[in-house]
Amino acid sequence: MLIDIHTHIQQFSDKDLDILINNSRFKNIDLIIAAGTTLTDSTKALELANNYNEIYAAVGVHPQNIHDESTDNYIAKLEKLIQFDKTIMISEIGLDLQENSVDIKLQRKFFSEQINLAKLHHLPTAFHVRNAEKEAIKIIKSEKINEIKSVAHYFSGDYQYAKELLDNGVFISIAKPFLRDENLSSTIKKLPLDRLVIETDSYPQYFKKNRTRWTEPKDLYIILEKLSSIFQKSKEEIKEIISDNSKYILSI
Ligand SMILES: [Zn+2]
Repeated sequence: MLIDIHTHIQQFSDKDLDILINNSRFKNIDLIIAAGTTLTDSTKALELANNYNEIYAAVGVHPQNIHDESTDNYIAKLEKLIQFDKTIMISEIGLDLQENSVDIKLQRKFFSEQINLAKLHHLPTAFHVRNAEKEAIKIIKSEKINEIKSVAHYFSGDYQYAKELLDNGVFISIAKPFLRDENLSSTIKKLPLDRLVIETDSYPQYFKKNRTRWTEPKDLYIILEKLSSIFQKSKEEIKEIISDNSKYILSI
């Protein structure tokens, strides 16, 4: 079973989504998680999931989107979305420290609250971390993320960070950057295969004029191929291991 454990495909236009779904069915992608970044976007993810068999929803507020709309009672609002069968994950949550980022104290609060929401409802979570690895490790330890299944999405850190994630029970999600980044690729080579999953993080890439170059769930195959070469195992073998890991996380 081939699972794209993290995307934002609810953000595609209807026309672009049609192309994406055709491509992913042609490539036999079995399941795609559409992760929300705001309450509105999470609702969209769930609506999409309700319309397509192979799509499931993740709901959450992304650290960069905390101020995009009102977050009054956002936990109660997320809980409403959790009641639906097709919501199977809390995401995208996390920490993101760049220039003009949302105040870190507020980000920490949202990250902690949403980890606890996942724990309360026994749901897995996928989280995002940019320039905040140490902060993130502090929170996942203090909030005991090891009590649920979790995924560090779009992993691009070093071995030390990976090790800390693994020690806290976190699975590591591999996306396309390691295809070109030799350092990242050699870090990933040292990680245990039974703790890896894969994702495309697909979202509409209007900045790329050539539509065929947009990242889509079908690109999971390129990731599998590269993993197969760095771990020196057959594509089938890698696919099976990754599939088992993803199914375990999603309890399917
Ligand atoms: Zn994402």
